[in-house]
Amino acid sequence: MDVMNAKKTVFIIGATNRPEIIDSALLRPGRLDNWGFARRWEILVFVSIREDFGRSTFSDFFSSSLQVFVKDGDASGIQTHVHDFIMSISDEISFWNDVWRGNASLDSTFPSLHKLATNKNSKLADMVTTEGNWNFIFKRNLAGVEVNIFAAMLLVIGSDPPALDSLPETRRWSPHSSGVFTVKTLYSKLIAESGMDNFPHYFIWKRPVPSKIYFLLWCLMHDKLNTIDMLQIKGVDIYNSCVLCGDDVESQDHIFLHCEIAHSVWSLVLPSNCWSWVIPRNLKMLAYGWHHVHFSIAGKFLWDLIPAAVVHTIWTERNKRIFERNYTFKTDDDLGIEVKSLILSWASATGKRAHLNFASTVQNKWDALFV
Ligand SMILES: [Zn+2]
Repeated sequence: MDVMNAKKTVFIIGATNRPEIIDSALLRPGRLDNWGFARRWEILVFVSIREDFGRSTFSDFFSSSLQVFVKDGDASGIQTHVHDFIMSISDEISFWNDVWRGNASLDSTFPSLHKLATNKNSKLADMVTTEGNWNFIFKRNLAGVEVNIFAAMLLVIGSDPPALDSLPETRRWSPHSSGVFTVKTLYSKLIAESGMDNFPHYFIWKRPVPSKIYFLLWCLMHDKLNTIDMLQIKGVDIYNSCVLCGDDVESQDHIFLHCEIAHSVWSLVLPSNCWSWVIPRNLKMLAYGWHHVHFSIAGKFLWDLIPAAVVHTIWTERNKRIFERNYTFKTDDDLGIEVKSLILSWASATGKRAHLNFASTVQNKWDALFV
Protein backbone atom coordinates (compact mmCIF):
# COMPACT_ATOMS: atom_id res chain seq x y z
CA MET A 1 0.00 0.00 0.00
CA ASP A 2 2.86 2.35 0.82
CA VAL A 3 4.41 2.05 -2.63
CA MET A 4 1.19 2.54 -4.57
CA ASN A 5 0.66 5.67 -6.60
CA ALA A 6 -2.50 7.70 -6.12
CA LYS A 7 -5.40 5.97 -7.83
CA LYS A 8 -8.18 8.48 -7.84
CA THR A 9 -10.76 6.32 -9.52
CA VAL A 10 -10.20 3.21 -7.40
CA PHE A 11 -12.77 2.59 -4.72
CA ILE A 12 -12.36 -0.14 -2.16
CA ILE A 13 -15.54 -0.96 -0.30
CA GLY A 14 -15.46 -3.26 2.70
CA ALA A 15 -17.79 -4.04 5.55
CA THR A 16 -17.40 -5.69 8.91
CA ASN A 17 -19.42 -6.21 12.03
CA ARG A 18 -16.19 -6.30 14.08
CA PRO A 19 -14.60 -2.86 13.48
CA GLU A 20 -12.60 -3.17 16.69
CA ILE A 21 -10.36 -5.93 15.31
CA ILE A 22 -9.36 -4.15 12.05
CA ASP A 23 -5.58 -3.70 11.80
CA SER A 24 -4.95 -0.12 12.89
CA ALA A 25 -2.31 0.25 10.14
CA LEU A 26 -5.14 0.26 7.62
CA LEU A 27 -6.80 3.16 9.34
CA ARG A 28 -3.88 5.56 9.37
CA PRO A 29 -4.61 8.93 7.72
CA GLY A 30 -4.23 8.91 3.95
CA ARG A 31 -4.82 5.20 3.52
CA LEU A 32 -8.52 4.62 3.66
CA ASP A 33 -10.56 7.78 3.51
CA ASN A 34 -14.28 8.18 3.97
CA TRP A 35 -14.15 5.71 6.77
CA GLY A 36 -17.54 5.47 8.37
CA PHE A 37 -19.76 3.31 10.50
CA ALA A 38 -23.26 2.45 9.51
CA ARG A 39 -25.80 -0.12 10.48
CA ARG A 40 -26.69 -2.64 7.81
CA TRP A 41 -29.98 -1.07 6.85
CA GLU A 42 -28.36 2.37 6.67
CA ILE A 43 -26.12 1.00 3.95
CA LEU A 44 -29.16 -0.43 2.20
CA VAL A 45 -30.75 3.00 2.28
CA PHE A 46 -27.55 4.49 0.93
CA VAL A 47 -27.52 2.02 -1.94
CA SER A 48 -31.15 2.77 -2.63
CA ILE A 49 -30.45 6.49 -2.63
CA ARG A 50 -27.45 6.07 -4.86
CA GLU A 51 -29.44 3.98 -7.30
CA ASP A 52 -32.64 5.88 -7.27
CA PHE A 53 -31.87 9.39 -6.20
CA GLY A 54 -28.76 9.83 -8.31
CA ARG A 55 -26.39 10.60 -5.46
CA SER A 56 -23.00 9.35 -6.43
CA THR A 57 -20.71 9.08 -3.45
CA PHE A 58 -20.80 7.90 0.09
CA SER A 59 -19.80 11.33 1.39
CA ASP A 60 -22.63 12.92 -0.58
CA PHE A 61 -25.01 10.73 1.30
CA PHE A 62 -23.60 11.58 4.68
CA SER A 63 -23.25 15.27 3.97
CA SER A 64 -26.90 15.37 2.99
CA SER A 65 -27.83 15.07 6.67
CA LEU A 66 -30.11 12.25 5.66
CA GLN A 67 -28.75 10.11 8.42
CA VAL A 68 -30.25 12.51 10.92
CA PHE A 69 -33.64 11.02 10.39
CA VAL A 70 -32.94 7.66 8.86
CA LYS A 71 -31.32 6.92 12.22
CA ASP A 72 -34.67 7.20 13.95
CA GLY A 73 -36.88 6.18 11.07
CA ASP A 74 -36.84 2.97 9.15
CA ALA A 75 -35.43 2.17 5.77
CA SER A 76 -38.73 1.19 4.21
CA GLY A 77 -40.09 4.63 5.07
CA ILE A 78 -37.59 6.15 2.69
CA GLN A 79 -37.72 3.45 0.08
CA THR A 80 -41.45 3.99 -0.36
CA HIS A 81 -40.55 7.44 -1.63
CA VAL A 82 -38.18 6.20 -4.27
CA HIS A 83 -40.95 6.64 -6.82
CA ASP A 84 -41.15 10.29 -5.88
CA PHE A 85 -38.14 10.56 -8.11
CA ILE A 86 -39.63 10.94 -11.52
CA MET A 87 -38.07 11.79 -14.82
CA SER A 88 -38.58 14.64 -17.12
CA ILE A 89 -39.06 12.95 -20.44
CA SER A 90 -38.28 13.64 -24.02
CA ASP A 91 -38.78 11.32 -26.97
CA GLU A 92 -35.40 9.65 -26.53
CA ILE A 93 -36.28 6.93 -24.04
CA SER A 94 -37.85 3.77 -25.38
CA PHE A 95 -40.71 2.77 -23.10
CA TRP A 96 -40.30 -1.00 -23.57
CA ASN A 97 -36.64 -1.40 -24.49
CA ASP A 98 -34.68 1.04 -22.31
CA VAL A 99 -34.02 0.57 -18.61
CA TRP A 100 -35.64 3.69 -17.20
CA ARG A 101 -37.28 2.37 -14.03
CA GLY A 102 -36.34 -0.72 -12.06
CA ASN A 103 -33.38 -2.92 -12.95
CA ALA A 104 -34.38 -4.19 -16.37
CA SER A 105 -36.25 -3.13 -19.47
CA LEU A 106 -40.01 -3.64 -19.42
CA ASP A 107 -40.02 -5.91 -22.49
CA SER A 108 -37.83 -8.40 -20.63
CA THR A 109 -39.73 -8.11 -17.34
CA PHE A 110 -43.23 -8.17 -18.82
CA PRO A 111 -42.90 -9.98 -22.20
CA SER A 112 -46.58 -10.92 -22.41
CA LEU A 113 -47.65 -7.27 -22.21
CA HIS A 114 -44.92 -6.24 -24.63
CA LYS A 115 -46.28 -8.79 -27.11
CA LEU A 116 -49.74 -7.21 -26.87
CA ALA A 117 -48.50 -3.61 -27.29
CA THR A 118 -49.56 -2.03 -30.60
CA ASN A 119 -46.32 -0.11 -30.90
CA LYS A 120 -43.39 -2.00 -29.50
CA ASN A 121 -41.04 0.91 -30.15
CA SER A 122 -43.07 3.56 -28.34
CA LYS A 123 -41.05 6.32 -26.74
CA LEU A 124 -41.74 7.10 -23.12
CA ALA A 125 -43.21 10.45 -24.13
CA ASP A 126 -45.72 8.67 -26.43
CA MET A 127 -47.04 6.70 -23.49
CA VAL A 128 -48.19 9.75 -21.54
CA THR A 129 -51.33 11.72 -22.41
CA THR A 130 -51.39 15.51 -22.31
CA GLU A 131 -53.48 15.17 -19.14
CA GLY A 132 -50.59 13.35 -17.52
CA ASN A 133 -52.01 9.80 -17.53
CA TRP A 134 -50.58 6.58 -18.93
CA ASN A 135 -51.62 5.91 -22.48
CA PHE A 136 -51.60 2.16 -23.09
CA ILE A 137 -53.03 0.74 -26.32
CA PHE A 138 -53.02 -3.05 -26.53
CA LYS A 139 -54.07 -5.19 -29.48
CA ARG A 140 -56.98 -6.54 -27.48
CA ASN A 141 -58.50 -6.20 -24.03
CA LEU A 142 -56.38 -7.69 -21.28
CA ALA A 143 -57.83 -10.85 -19.81
CA GLY A 144 -57.40 -12.90 -16.65
CA VAL A 145 -53.84 -13.09 -15.47
CA GLU A 146 -52.77 -10.32 -17.86
CA VAL A 147 -54.64 -7.81 -15.73
CA ASN A 148 -52.58 -8.88 -12.74
CA ILE A 149 -49.37 -8.59 -14.75
CA PHE A 150 -50.42 -5.11 -15.84
CA ALA A 151 -51.00 -4.18 -12.18
CA ALA A 152 -47.54 -5.51 -11.35
CA MET A 153 -46.05 -3.35 -14.08
CA LEU A 154 -47.82 -0.28 -12.69
CA LEU A 155 -46.16 -1.02 -9.36
CA VAL A 156 -42.79 -0.83 -11.09
CA ILE A 157 -43.38 2.24 -13.23
CA GLY A 158 -45.73 4.02 -10.84
CA SER A 159 -49.40 4.79 -11.41
CA ASP A 160 -48.48 8.40 -12.22
CA PRO A 161 -46.29 8.81 -15.28
CA PRO A 162 -43.26 11.07 -15.37
CA ALA A 163 -43.84 14.77 -15.87
CA LEU A 164 -44.06 16.02 -19.43
CA ASP A 165 -42.04 19.19 -19.44
CA SER A 166 -39.25 20.86 -21.30
CA LEU A 167 -36.50 20.02 -18.81
CA PRO A 168 -33.68 17.74 -19.88
CA GLU A 169 -34.08 14.06 -19.13
CA THR A 170 -33.12 13.59 -15.56
CA ARG A 171 -34.42 12.21 -12.34
CA ARG A 172 -36.50 14.78 -10.52
CA TRP A 173 -37.71 14.84 -6.93
CA SER A 174 -41.42 15.40 -7.25
CA PRO A 175 -42.13 16.76 -3.73
CA HIS A 176 -40.02 19.83 -4.50
CA SER A 177 -41.07 22.21 -7.25
CA SER A 178 -37.50 22.57 -8.48
CA GLY A 179 -37.13 18.80 -8.84
CA VAL A 180 -34.04 18.83 -6.65
CA PHE A 181 -33.93 16.46 -3.71
CA THR A 182 -34.00 18.19 -0.35
CA VAL A 183 -33.94 16.64 3.09
CA LYS A 184 -36.66 19.07 4.18
CA THR A 185 -39.20 17.85 1.64
CA LEU A 186 -38.52 14.20 2.43
CA TYR A 187 -38.80 14.98 6.14
CA SER A 188 -42.17 16.66 5.54
CA LYS A 189 -43.40 13.66 3.57
CA LEU A 190 -42.27 11.21 6.23
CA ILE A 191 -44.16 13.20 8.85
CA ALA A 192 -47.29 13.46 6.73
CA GLU A 193 -47.36 9.94 5.34
CA SER A 194 -45.23 7.65 7.48
CA GLY A 195 -46.35 8.68 10.95
CA MET A 196 -42.95 10.03 11.97
CA ASP A 197 -42.94 12.46 14.89
CA ASN A 198 -42.39 16.06 13.94
CA PHE A 199 -39.65 17.10 16.32
CA PRO A 200 -40.49 20.54 17.81
CA HIS A 201 -37.43 22.19 16.25
CA TYR A 202 -39.07 25.61 16.19
CA PHE A 203 -39.55 25.48 19.94
CA ILE A 204 -35.83 24.89 20.47
CA TRP A 205 -33.75 26.44 17.74
CA LYS A 206 -35.69 29.42 16.40
CA ARG A 207 -35.26 31.68 19.37
CA PRO A 208 -32.66 34.36 20.02
CA VAL A 209 -31.24 32.83 23.17
CA PRO A 210 -27.69 31.78 24.13
CA SER A 211 -26.55 28.48 22.64
CA LYS A 212 -26.28 26.79 26.04
CA ILE A 213 -30.05 27.37 26.40
CA TYR A 214 -30.64 25.64 23.04
CA PHE A 215 -28.75 22.69 24.39
CA LEU A 216 -30.77 22.66 27.61
CA LEU A 217 -34.07 22.68 25.67
CA TRP A 218 -32.78 20.03 23.27
CA CYS A 219 -31.88 17.79 26.22
CA LEU A 220 -35.34 18.31 27.67
CA MET A 221 -37.09 17.29 24.46
CA HIS A 222 -35.03 14.10 24.37
CA ASP A 223 -35.51 13.33 28.08
CA LYS A 224 -31.76 13.62 28.53
CA LEU A 225 -31.51 15.97 31.49
CA ASN A 226 -29.95 14.33 34.54
CA THR A 227 -32.82 14.82 36.95
CA ILE A 228 -32.77 12.46 39.93
CA ASP A 229 -35.23 9.99 38.38
CA MET A 230 -32.94 9.70 35.35
CA LEU A 231 -29.88 9.21 37.57
CA GLN A 232 -31.72 6.37 39.34
CA ILE A 233 -32.48 4.75 35.98
CA LYS A 234 -28.77 5.01 35.16
CA GLY A 235 -27.96 3.13 38.37
CA VAL A 236 -26.98 5.99 40.69
CA ASP A 237 -28.03 5.14 44.23
CA ILE A 238 -29.65 8.38 45.30
CA TYR A 239 -32.76 9.40 47.22
CA ASN A 240 -35.30 11.14 45.02
CA SER A 241 -36.89 14.25 46.43
CA CYS A 242 -37.57 17.51 44.60
CA VAL A 243 -35.15 20.08 46.01
CA LEU A 244 -37.55 22.90 45.10
CA CYS A 245 -40.70 21.79 46.94
CA GLY A 246 -39.62 18.72 48.92
CA ASP A 247 -43.07 17.24 48.37
CA ASP A 248 -42.57 15.02 45.37
CA VAL A 249 -39.98 13.09 43.41
CA GLU A 250 -37.88 14.99 40.90
CA SER A 251 -38.46 14.46 37.21
CA GLN A 252 -38.22 16.76 34.22
CA ASP A 253 -41.96 17.28 34.02
CA HIS A 254 -42.18 17.85 37.75
CA ILE A 255 -39.50 20.47 38.28
CA PHE A 256 -40.35 22.45 35.15
CA LEU A 257 -44.14 22.16 35.08
CA HIS A 258 -45.88 20.58 38.06
CA CYS A 259 -43.77 21.53 41.05
CA GLU A 260 -45.49 24.23 43.09
CA ILE A 261 -42.45 26.48 42.67
CA ALA A 262 -42.51 25.99 38.89
CA HIS A 263 -46.22 26.70 38.91
CA SER A 264 -45.64 29.96 40.78
CA VAL A 265 -42.95 31.02 38.33
CA TRP A 266 -45.11 30.25 35.29
CA SER A 267 -48.01 32.13 36.90
CA LEU A 268 -45.85 35.19 37.47
CA VAL A 269 -44.51 35.23 33.94
CA LEU A 270 -47.51 34.25 31.81
CA PRO A 271 -49.63 37.33 31.08
CA SER A 272 -52.81 37.16 33.13
CA ASN A 273 -54.86 40.17 32.04
CA CYS A 274 -57.14 38.47 29.56
CA TRP A 275 -56.01 34.88 29.68
CA SER A 276 -56.03 31.89 31.93
CA TRP A 277 -53.52 29.13 31.42
CA VAL A 278 -53.53 25.39 31.85
CA ILE A 279 -50.16 23.78 32.53
CA PRO A 280 -49.71 20.87 30.10
CA ARG A 281 -49.10 17.30 31.15
CA ASN A 282 -45.52 17.16 29.92
CA LEU A 283 -42.80 19.23 28.30
CA LYS A 284 -43.37 17.83 24.82
CA MET A 285 -47.01 18.94 24.95
CA LEU A 286 -45.77 22.34 26.07
CA ALA A 287 -43.43 22.48 23.08
CA TYR A 288 -46.04 21.37 20.54
CA GLY A 289 -48.65 23.76 21.92
CA TRP A 290 -46.54 26.87 22.35
CA HIS A 291 -48.30 29.18 19.87
CA HIS A 292 -49.07 32.85 19.88
CA VAL A 293 -51.92 34.44 18.03
CA HIS A 294 -53.48 37.10 20.18
CA PHE A 295 -50.54 39.16 21.37
CA SER A 296 -49.00 42.44 20.30
CA ILE A 297 -45.95 42.25 18.02
CA ALA A 298 -43.62 42.78 20.99
CA GLY A 299 -45.70 40.30 22.99
CA LYS A 300 -45.26 37.59 20.36
CA PHE A 301 -41.51 38.09 20.38
CA LEU A 302 -41.32 37.91 24.17
CA TRP A 303 -43.74 34.98 24.28
CA ASP A 304 -41.31 32.82 22.32
CA LEU A 305 -38.61 33.49 24.92
CA ILE A 306 -40.67 32.56 27.98
CA PRO A 307 -40.15 28.76 28.07
CA ALA A 308 -36.38 29.04 27.60
CA ALA A 309 -36.12 31.65 30.38
CA VAL A 310 -38.33 29.70 32.80
CA VAL A 311 -36.51 26.41 32.20
CA HIS A 312 -33.08 28.00 32.50
CA THR A 313 -33.99 29.87 35.70
CA ILE A 314 -35.54 26.86 37.41
CA TRP A 315 -32.69 24.55 36.40
CA THR A 316 -30.09 27.05 37.67
CA GLU A 317 -31.92 27.47 40.99
CA ARG A 318 -32.27 23.71 41.35
CA ASN A 319 -28.53 23.19 40.72
CA LYS A 320 -27.51 25.94 43.13
CA ARG A 321 -29.71 24.49 45.85
CA ILE A 322 -28.12 21.09 45.38
CA PHE A 323 -24.48 21.95 44.72
CA GLU A 324 -23.72 25.32 46.36
CA ARG A 325 -22.93 25.38 50.04
CA ASN A 326 -24.74 27.98 52.17
CA TYR A 327 -26.86 28.98 49.20
CA THR A 328 -29.82 31.20 50.11
CA PHE A 329 -32.89 29.91 48.30
CA LYS A 330 -34.59 32.44 46.07
CA THR A 331 -38.27 33.12 46.65
CA ASP A 332 -40.84 32.42 43.94
CA ASP A 333 -41.13 36.19 43.36
CA ASP A 334 -37.35 36.49 42.94
CA LEU A 335 -37.41 33.70 40.38
CA GLY A 336 -40.28 35.37 38.51
CA ILE A 337 -38.37 38.65 38.36
CA GLU A 338 -35.27 36.80 37.20
CA VAL A 339 -37.19 35.17 34.35
CA LYS A 340 -38.67 38.49 33.23
CA SER A 341 -35.29 40.21 33.42
CA LEU A 342 -33.73 37.43 31.39
CA ILE A 343 -36.39 37.73 28.69
CA LEU A 344 -36.00 41.50 28.42
CA SER A 345 -32.22 41.28 28.28
CA TRP A 346 -32.34 38.62 25.52
CA ALA A 347 -34.80 40.81 23.62
CA SER A 348 -32.55 43.88 24.04
CA ALA A 349 -29.53 41.89 22.87
CA THR A 350 -31.28 41.29 19.53
CA GLY A 351 -32.21 44.97 19.21
CA LYS A 352 -35.88 44.47 20.15
CA ARG A 353 -36.07 46.60 23.23
CA ALA A 354 -39.61 46.14 24.53
CA HIS A 355 -39.47 48.27 27.66
CA LEU A 356 -39.04 51.93 28.58
CA ASN A 357 -38.12 51.40 32.20
CA PHE A 358 -36.63 48.01 32.98
CA ALA A 359 -37.53 47.93 36.67
CA SER A 360 -41.12 49.10 36.33
CA THR A 361 -41.73 46.80 33.36
CA VAL A 362 -40.53 43.81 35.34
CA GLN A 363 -42.33 44.83 38.52
CA ASN A 364 -45.77 45.94 37.38
CA LYS A 365 -46.06 46.57 33.65
CA TRP A 366 -45.30 43.07 32.41
CA ASP A 367 -48.75 42.16 31.17
CA ALA A 368 -49.04 45.41 29.22
CA LEU A 369 -46.25 44.20 26.90
CA PHE A 370 -48.50 41.47 25.53
CA VAL A 371 -51.64 43.51 24.82
ZN1 LIG B 1 -41.13 20.05 43.41
